Amino acid sequence: MDGKGMIRLPDKVRRILQVLRENGFEAYAVGGCVRDSILGREPSDWDITTAAAPQQVKALFGHTVDTGIAHGTVTVMIGKEGFEVTTYRVDGSYSDGRHPDSVTFTPDLKEDLCRRDFTINAMAYSEEDGLVDLFGGMEDLSRRVVRCVGSASERFHEDALRMLRAVRFAAQLGFSLDEEAAAAIRAQAGDLRKVSAERIRVELEKLVTSPDPGMLKTAWETGITAVVLPWFDRMMDQVQNGSHHIYSVGEHTLETMRNIRPDRLLRFTMLFHDMGKPDCAVRTPDGIWHFRGHAAKSAVIAREITDMLRFDRATADKCVRLVAVHSLYPEATPAGVRRGAAQTGPDLFGLFLEVKRADIMGQNPAVQEKKLAWLDKVEALWQEIRERGDCLKVSELAISGSDLIRDGVKPGPGMGRLLEALLEEVLEDPSLNQADLLLERSRQLRQSGGL
Ligand code: ATP
Ligand code: MG
Repeated sequence: MDGKGMIRLPDKVRRILQVLRENGFEAYAVGGCVRDSILGREPSDWDITTAAAPQQVKALFGHTVDTGIAHGTVTVMIGKEGFEVTTYRVDGSYSDGRHPDSVTFTPDLKEDLCRRDFTINAMAYSEEDGLVDLFGGMEDLSRRVVRCVGSASERFHEDALRMLRAVRFAAQLGFSLDEEAAAAIRAQAGDLRKVSAERIRVELEKLVTSPDPGMLKTAWETGITAVVLPWFDRMMDQVQNGSHHIYSVGEHTLETMRNIRPDRLLRFTMLFHDMGKPDCAVRTPDGIWHFRGHAAKSAVIAREITDMLRFDRATADKCVRLVAVHSLYPEATPAGVRRGAAQTGPDLFGLFLEVKRADIMGQNPAVQEKKLAWLDKVEALWQEIRERGDCLKVSELAISGSDLIRDGVKPGPGMGRLLEALLEEVLEDPSLNQADLLLERSRQLRQSGGL
C-alpha cells in the first residue's frame, strides 16, 4: 500500500492504534475521518476499525463505554475524549431494508470495508500500511462523486437510508451523485418509507445545514422528498407570479435557505416558512397569486413535520413560532419595532430579522432594495432598543400581578388583560413604565370599564 504519511493522525488516535497493534490486532482509522483528512477538512470524529473483538478491546483500555456492543462498537475514552472502536464486521442480509438481520465479526479488513456505503467512506488508514483503498475512493474524491461500493441498486435495497445519505454527502462535500446511484434512487426512493423517522431526521438535518442546502432539489428530482417531505414537492409545483416573486414557492424556499447561516433552527424555519402556500393559493383574474393566511398554515405544517421527524421540543417550538410570524412587517419606528418584538416574543426577534432578510433575498430583485432599506432601519432600531433595555413583555413592566392584587384587582383573566393593556401603552411610550404611573393608569382603565 502507498499513501504512507498522507494523513496526520491525532496523538490519541495514534496511541489507540498502537496499543491494538502491539497486542497483535490490525487497526486502522476508517470512514469519514479518512475521507475528510484527504479533502483537507477537519474530521468531526475519528473512528477506528480493528480485528480485535469487543471484549479484547475492552481488556486493553482502562476506560471504555459499551456504545453498541452488539454491533461491535466500544468507545475508548482517552481523558474526556471518546473514540469509537468497532470490530471488523460483515452485515448479514437485510430483509427489512433498514438494518441487517445479523452482524458477524470477521478477521478480514476487506470484508469490513465492503459493507460500507460509499467508496469515499470505505477507505482505511494506518501509519504502517498507509491508505487502504479497495474500491477507488481516492479517484472518486478527485472526481468529486458519491458512488456506492458495489451495485447501487443492491446497496440501497439493503438500507434505503443510504439514498438520502448519498444526497447529504454530496451537499456537504460539494460533490455530485454518480449516475448509477442517481438512477437507482429514482427507481427505489419509495423504500425510504421503511426507514425510521429518527434516522431520516439525522440525515435531513445534515443536508439542510450543509454548505449547499439547494441540494434538496436533487433529493426532489430523484423522488426522495416525495417520500420523506411531500410538502416540499407541493411547493415546487406552486407558481407564484406576483410582483414580489419570480420563482416557484419551492425555488424561492431553496433560495432563502441558501441566504441564511447554516444553523439548524434557521435553515428548517426557511424550509417550512411557505409550506402553507399551496393550501392558501388563490389566483385573481389578473393572473396574480395570493396566499392569504399562509404563515399560520405553514406553522401548522411545521408542527406536523417536526412531530413526525421527532424534533426536540425546544427546537420545534421555536421553529413553529418563527414560521408563524415570518410574514410580519413591523413599522420601522421605535414603537413599531417594540410592538413587533412583543409579537414574535423578544427572545425570537433577532432570529426573526435574520429570517426576514433571507426571505427578502429570495424574492424578486426588483423589490429587494426597498425592503432591505426597511430591514436595515428595523435592525438599527432593534439594536438601540436592546441597548436601552426597553420593556417588551408583561414580566418587564414596573408593576406585577401582585401589585395589582394589593390594589384590589381580582386574579384571573381580567387581570391578564389589564397587564396586556398596560404593556401596549408602554410599548408605545417606554417612559410610562414606572410603578406609580402604571398603577394610576390601571385604576383609570378599570373605572372606564371593560377591564
Ligand atoms: P460524518 O462526518 O457526517 O460523521 P461519516 O462518514 O463519519 O460522516 P457516519 O454516518 O458517522 O458518517 O458513519 C461512519 C461510517 O460508517 C461511514 O463513513 C460509513 O463507512 C459507515 N456507514 C454509516 N452508515 C452507513 C450505512 N447506512 N450503510 C453503510 N455504511 C454506513
Ligand atoms: Mg461520523
